[in-house]
Amino acid sequence: MDLLTAGARDLQIALEPAHLAAFRIYYEELVSWNEKFNLTAITDYKGAQVRHFLDSVTCLLALETQRRLTSQSLIDVGTGAGFPGIPLKVLRPGIKLTLVEATRKKTHFLEHLVQRLGLSNVTVLHARAETLGQDPAHRERYDWVMARAVAEMTILAEYLLPLARIGGRVLAQKGEDAAAEVQLAEAAIVYLGGRVQQLVPVEMRGLVERRYLVVLDKKAATPEKYPRRPGMPSKRPLEKS
Ligand code: SAH
Repeated sequence: MDLLTAGARDLQIALEPAHLAAFRIYYEELVSWNEKFNLTAITDYKGAQVRHFLDSVTCLLALETQRRLTSQSLIDVGTGAGFPGIPLKVLRPGIKLTLVEATRKKTHFLEHLVQRLGLSNVTVLHARAETLGQDPAHRERYDWVMARAVAEMTILAEYLLPLARIGGRVLAQKGEDAAAEVQLAEAAIVYLGGRVQQLVPVEMRGLVERRYLVVLDKKAATPEKYPRRPGMPSKRPLEKS
């Protein structure tokens, strides 16, 4: 059995042959495009299976605590080459997925990949989180707002919380420093209308370090002023402003 199937099975996530076939195509496209455009640092087979595909699908451990995802809206901010959004869409085709990415060459790849995999109900946006957060078409519209490897938690809270509907949630994939990052970001999270719901530890076969899924509840409307204009959240993270 391959690493991806075995790793998912450890976490009680069932992968079907059709999922594996889609991940095979995804991997081939990633490697082939990566030769021309630098999309991701990880392209070796084992690294991609564990750090891209398996790591993305572990989000289900936080997304499906009560019931299976069906038609919920998810937005993946700073998705890069599609992680974690596209692997989740492969496993749960009923979701409405929006992929946000500030780099044009990456959105080209995403558009190609979505077509190649025959995915429907996926919107690829070449945009910055700060702009979408002030756009009525996107602000406070999503059931789930997610990101992996985009920014430190305080900055991420300003990118993500404005996009979640009240009653919706934010999911940030984090590494070993998750608890410390969340602690530093807590005041900003509350100020932006959020509340820390839980940190789910994730252990994966083939990965020594532990990963965490940080889940925030969107409790109240985000103050109008946030997110600030592009570049500001990272230049002057909230706690320090
Ligand atoms: N989530 C992917 C990519 C991580 S790299 C993965 O885990 O593999 C971070 C990506 O976020 C980059 O592609 C970068 O262009 C994008 N990004 C960073 N800040 C952003 C912002 N404010 N709005 C939109 N995209 C952003």
